[in-house]
Amino acid sequence: MLGIWGRQTWWWSGGSRKLRVRDSKLRAHSRQLLRGLTPCLPLSVTALCEELGGVLGRPITLMEWELPADGPFGVLISRDDEDVIVYQATTTKAHQAHIVLHEVGHLIAFAFDGRRPSGEHSCYSDEDERDAEVIASTIMDQAISMRRRVRTHKLDDPFQHSVYNSLVLTSEAA
Ligand SMILES: [Zn+2]
Repeated sequence: MLGIWGRQTWWWSGGSRKLRVRDSKLRAHSRQLLRGLTPCLPLSVTALCEELGGVLGRPITLMEWELPADGPFGVLISRDDEDVIVYQATTTKAHQAHIVLHEVGHLIAFAFDGRRPSGEHSCYSDEDERDAEVIASTIMDQAISMRRRVRTHKLDDPFQHSVYNSLVLTSEAA
């Protein structure tokens, strides 16, 4: 799950060498996964999830929902034939993109370990939450560098958006 902003920033305050080694393995793994995809630019989270579902072998379904304000912003529901990411309806598009990328981070980390998330989860271990944030930030970085490459090649005239806007949830950009 992705909780209230700020409450969980302690993940980033240091960490053991073992954790940092795992972080860099997960970063490398995520970058490799992303290189294998052919998402359209500007990168949409919706299109990314579609492609990633194909790579991971299970479709990823996104569902916008008005989640209680005092609960998690995102919930991952693993069903027999699909993984469903429920994300908060009442927040900004950029925040929604981060919520979805965080849950995607859980899916990638579980697949990396050969584990499967079971049932409906809004609460994982601290290590799992750290993994999810490391992967979400790697995807975010990758989107930013893809956008820079587009700029360098002067291909971005139709895209007068910020980096965050290029990562918003859209259904038509797929
Ligand atoms: Zn989480």
